[in-house]
Amino acid sequence: KTVLLWFRKDLRLADNAALATAVDEGAEVIPVYILEPEDAGTGPLGAAQAWWLHHSLEALASSLMHHGSGLVLRRGPASEVLKALISGTGADAVFWNRRYDPPGIAIDKAIKADLTERGLVVRSFAGQILHEPTKLKTGAGGNFRVYTPFWKALEASGEPAEPIPAPARIPSPASPPKSDALEDWALLPTKLNWAKSFEGPWQPGETGAQKRLAAFVQSGLKGYRTRRDFPGEAHVSMLSPHLALGEISPASVWHATRGLSEDYSSEDYIHFRKELVWRDFSYHLLFHFPDLSTRNWSAKFDAFPWRDAPDLLEKWQKGQTGYPIVDAGMRQLWQTGWMHNRVRMIVASFLIKDLLIDWREGERWFRDTLVDADPASNAASWQWVAGSGADAAPFFRIFNPTSQGEKFDPEGVYVRRFVPELKDMPDKFIHKPSEAPLTVLREAGVSLGKTYPLPIVDHGKARDAAMAAFQGLKGE
Ligand code: FAD
Repeated sequence: KTVLLWFRKDLRLADNAALATAVDEGAEVIPVYILEPEDAGTGPLGAAQAWWLHHSLEALASSLMHHGSGLVLRRGPASEVLKALISGTGADAVFWNRRYDPPGIAIDKAIKADLTERGLVVRSFAGQILHEPTKLKTGAGGNFRVYTPFWKALEASGEPAEPIPAPARIPSPASPPKSDALEDWALLPTKLNWAKSFEGPWQPGETGAQKRLAAFVQSGLKGYRTRRDFPGEAHVSMLSPHLALGEISPASVWHATRGLSEDYSSEDYIHFRKELVWRDFSYHLLFHFPDLSTRNWSAKFDAFPWRDAPDLLEKWQKGQTGYPIVDAGMRQLWQTGWMHNRVRMIVASFLIKDLLIDWREGERWFRDTLVDADPASNAASWQWVAGSGADAAPFFRIFNPTSQGEKFDPEGVYVRRFVPELKDMPDKFIHKPSEAPLTVLREAGVSLGKTYPLPIVDHGKARDAAMAAFQGLKGE
């Protein structure tokens, strides 16, 4: 038997149910990755994630080689690519691990129906998320809209299955089909220098993911519950880009937090699992509300008077707002392709509530610049901050960027790292340089409006304007 093993958002060998089953059943396996066209609906692939994907595919290809196999790269609509591969190889089965974005689901359903009709065996497996969105139901049999009952239901449904080890060897046919050259896909950004700086913090691929998880469990996890909100500290896992492309399974991450010694507090690892489950919850929402990235969950927000302000949007994107914690976050995003969760909430609140710019602009920017860009978590989180989402923060909870900075980055460690022009400001004014006396600014080498911008809006006034706009909306 020959199985086409279609890799998608599961670029790993360990805990890969489709792969493990094919190998267990004694099949010859042809691993395939298909770059699907953007208009298939599964994209667009953001530029930062395209960089990641390039390196992740390199890593996957090399680890498949070490297992006696290889990766076949093909480009085009998945149905056509698979059919061409089937007729070229005589494969009699196609296996994959399920994806949960609505366009992906539609493509997979159509392919499954078509290939089954042609007499092929098509099998799909679980593994991208911890639960199947059709299985978890509320007491009344509906879908969840609120996180806490979702978490409780997921917890009550038992531990996720133990991860399956990577197969020792992957049997390969004598003459596997030809592969495209990865370079020809031009996934790496052409803009000079951008993404070069991603190489420092990241190691895309399964090995990088496993190392990151081990390092986090070793050090970052202790204190996670209380310190995870401090962007200057190393108490979050930074596993999100690895999870986004499935280089590690969420079940493996979950199980790495079991059986720990008494040095670990259950508060820390349970809180960590709860965060991991927010990812699942986001997929649950996306599965049942396919327009999550484009349509307000709460229709009340459809009438929101968003401002068309491209100049302000650009200042936000470039980290030139005059609010140091916002600017540090946006520059961290540009320089590393990632941003700390607390700061994501602050910059999102700033865009939506201080600048009154539509959350969809932010969602789009993040999708293009985040290495962990995820159709479910990104859309759900933007709607959460906007107040338009399911189980969202109420709109009137408007972050004050100065006090958020003072609370979560009290000595300005994070701001100094990403906004070096403020590095010599005293702690007292690091989050409010516009309130510092001239002598202090001079001593720190800061010239407002020249070396660092003045605030582009007054937060107090912006807050009042946002509240007025919100109160103008009618009903639920
Ligand atoms: P950890 O704290 O170590 O958490 C472990 C894992 O749990 C994460 O890797 C992630 O998979 C999951 N997780 C944690 N928090 C959340 C959350 N609030 N929602 C969903 N999953 C979560 N996350 C993405 O993966 N992709 C996105 O595109 C994305 N966009 C976001 C946009 C906004 C406006 C906001 C406020 C949040 C967004 N998040 C997104 C959620 C969250 O910020 C990141 O998952 C987290 O910062 C990743 O860092 P970490 O791996 O160190 O997280």
